Amino acid sequence: MAESDCIFCEIAKGRSPAAVEYEDDLVVAFADINPVAPVHILVVTKTHLASISEMKEEEEELIGHMVWVARKIAENRKLEGYKLVFNVGEKGGQIVFHLHLHLLGGWDEKQEEIRI
Ligand code: AMP
Ligand code: ZN
Repeated sequence: MAESDCIFCEIAKGRSPAAVEYEDDLVVAFADINPVAPVHILVVTKTHLASISEMKEEEEELIGHMVWVARKIAENRKLEGYKLVFNVGEKGGQIVFHLHLHLLGGWDEKQEEIRI
């Protein structure tokens, strides 16, 4: 897929609008356009990587950084509990094939199940 056809590449380059919550050299984090939790943020790599299923060993640190950023955002927002989700592949519910981590939280009650 050409990067110009990828919505998350466009957001990462500042060419498409998003409610950006955090940004550094490696990732950008912004509000999901169709939230399924009171707080629903996507942590997205700045480079176009399709999916965890295509992850290379040398990307270990980058994926760890995504988790670290999600955890820092959760801390800043004082989330008491949250879920971190990678949807992997079509059968895993992945719709956008540009690597992203869902940060979901902000509920008053314990959440057993969530569909994303
Ligand atoms: P996934 O099913 O893991 O591929 O999730 C893709 C997510 O991207 C969904 O939760 C969508 O609501 C979200 N999404 C798609 N387009 C945008 C956009 N332009 N801005 C913010 N979130 C988006
Ligand atoms: Zn992309």
